Amino acid sequence: MEQRDKKRLIQIIEDEEDLVLGLQDAFGFEGFEVIAASSGEEGIAMAADRHPDLIILDLMLPGMNGYKVCEQIRRRDKIVPILILSARSQENDIIRGLESGADDYVIKPFSIGELLARVRTIFRRVAVAQRRPSSIINVGEATVDVASQTASLRGKQFQLSFYEVQILQLFDERRGETVTRDHILDSVWGLDANPTNRTVDNFILKLRRKLEPDPAAPKHILTVYGQGYKLV
Ligand code: CA
Repeated sequence: MEQRDKKRLIQIIEDEEDLVLGLQDAFGFEGFEVIAASSGEEGIAMAADRHPDLIILDLMLPGMNGYKVCEQIRRRDKIVPILILSARSQENDIIRGLESGADDYVIKPFSIGELLARVRTIFRRVAVAQRRPSSIINVGEATVDVASQTASLRGKQFQLSFYEVQILQLFDERRGETVTRDHILDSVWGLDANPTNRTVDNFILKLRRKLEPDPAAPKHILTVYGQGYKLV
């Protein structure tokens, strides 16, 4: 069961008023506290001020676009899960969104039920991660503290994103075994996930940059050609 002592705060950054109202209703009904901003600039200021537990961010905004907004928020907050709403289903747009620091995305038009399910999945994973506060994962010389989502390697500290830690935990549970991309997608994003194999590859690159002394020649997060990845 999820902890319900404090209401989770969800911030929506979206300029379509009808959609914002619909989301506020639906999330409010589910017991979340909801705040909304109608532009990127307003959203960035609001996120800095209110520290939401999750951000739902539209890519097509007036003025500053969603990618830029995502990067700006990430500069200040490396941890808050950011879920992108995108009318564009093209893989390159999605990859660009994930590269700008988003964790997950839902393609418009979507059902509110689908969005709620994705948000619940994220919070369930956050809750599970928080129940293992002292967990440390070793990746070669690098050490990852799951609770604070930080990695240290040779005296340098890196902040890991929510999904980077999720992937790493999955690898750690199956250390030495090949974990297929499909299995990573199912376990980390859930069965109805939109992300593709390229999304997984993208997250692996990010992990290697933080955990491998030589990211171009990884010694611990290994590619198993045609299958997936393996942590050794
Ligand atoms: Ca919009």
